Amino acid sequence: MLIVQKFGGTSVGDLERISNVAKRVAKTKEQGNDIIVVVSAMSGETNKLIEYAKHFSKTPALKEMDMLLSSGERVTSALLAIALCDMGYDAISLSGRKAGIHTDEMHTNARISHINTKNMKKSLNEGKIIIVAGFQGINENDDVSTLGRGGSDLSAVAIAGAMGADVCEIYTDVDGVYTTDPRIERRAKKIDKISYDEMLEFASLGAKVLQNRSVEMAKKLNVNLVTRSSFNENEGTLITKEENIMEEPIVSGIALDKNQARVTLRNVKDEPGIAAHIFSTLADNNIIVDMIIQNVGHDGSANLGFTVGENDLESAKNIMQRLNAAENLEFDNNISKVSIVGVGMKNHTGVASLAFTTMADNNINIEMISTSEIKISMIVDEKYSELAVRSLHEAYNLGDRE
Ligand code: ADP
Ligand code: ASP
Ligand code: MG
Repeated sequence: MLIVQKFGGTSVGDLERISNVAKRVAKTKEQGNDIIVVVSAMSGETNKLIEYAKHFSKTPALKEMDMLLSSGERVTSALLAIALCDMGYDAISLSGRKAGIHTDEMHTNARISHINTKNMKKSLNEGKIIIVAGFQGINENDDVSTLGRGGSDLSAVAIAGAMGADVCEIYTDVDGVYTTDPRIERRAKKIDKISYDEMLEFASLGAKVLQNRSVEMAKKLNVNLVTRSSFNENEGTLITKEENIMEEPIVSGIALDKNQARVTLRNVKDEPGIAAHIFSTLADNNIIVDMIIQNVGHDGSANLGFTVGENDLESAKNIMQRLNAAENLEFDNNISKVSIVGVGMKNHTGVASLAFTTMADNNINIEMISTSEIKISMIVDEKYSELAVRSLHEAYNLGDRE
């Protein structure tokens, strides 16, 4: 078998943990498998590097950020190779460039365009254990690029797809995908199998156990994806095609995204073209807008509210001040998005009303709502977001799920 194993930040968080990862990798090799390992930076490292950059500039060149951030994964890949070699295994570390990972030009959030598997295939044929520095590749200008936060998951899935691996195992600090973040609700249950679509929704709505783009890629390339703990031998969660799942529950889980911010424009002119102007300017500046609400206008003006990722709030602020489209602007960073996810929701009624009643029973004000076929999202005050998650988890009986 060819197995891709990815170890996240906590799993390589200190030297002893790197040693444990080396033992785990060695065991997989001893079982007669070919193995490609993808590693993250040690936990906290990427955040630390971002803070370092902020010390010097509010707007560092993104190309330099990539140079900086990619260093974390290089450290762990080399250390793991050194540890394995010392145990008598033939292991080599590869940077994104050496692993043949080519990306587009979007520094700090690059997309993988293709993977040249030549070096990896050659090393595997020589019986080597390959260790790839996750989260990075090389762009057309031969500059190093990084793949966005959580991007080592994407490196692992893309490599598994390109190399035709039998399975891609994502090792992390929890036993798999749970009905909600087990750090918020200790009664959360591990899910044995979940469909790509549902996992994609979950990940996009804030369940950071898997990076959303990695799930999208796994679906596209049909990669058998498993998340499991690097601290025990428990079976993890299989992310697979919908048809491989016997019966999907109506609601699978609750996701929380605290990295949301809201922009409110009061007294915007109520006339054609205003929304187009506002949102196309945001799009031109690469700002992703999530929820949008506009109230029914009267007296020739209306109020418009929308949410963006917290990291984009500063730029959104600048743009809105420049556009001068409203009499009054408000910015709120203390909001969170709580979402209920479930493929089974498509064919059931009453799912949304239970969510709203639960919030009402807990005196939590819902500030914005958006729905799709398989999710309901609500914006609430960040202070109440964990209470909202726990109450919804209970209301949908997710702790009793078998
Ligand atoms: P890694 O460093 O291994 O990439 P992450 O911190 O990116 O790990 O992701 C694992 C974390 O995701 C867990 O520690 C957990 O707190 C969080 N998480 C959020 N939602 C979920 C969920 N539904 N199931 C499991 N973990 C979740
Ligand atoms: N080190 C990067 C991050 O913290 C990538 C990853 O861990 O997946 O976002
Ligand atoms: Mg992660």
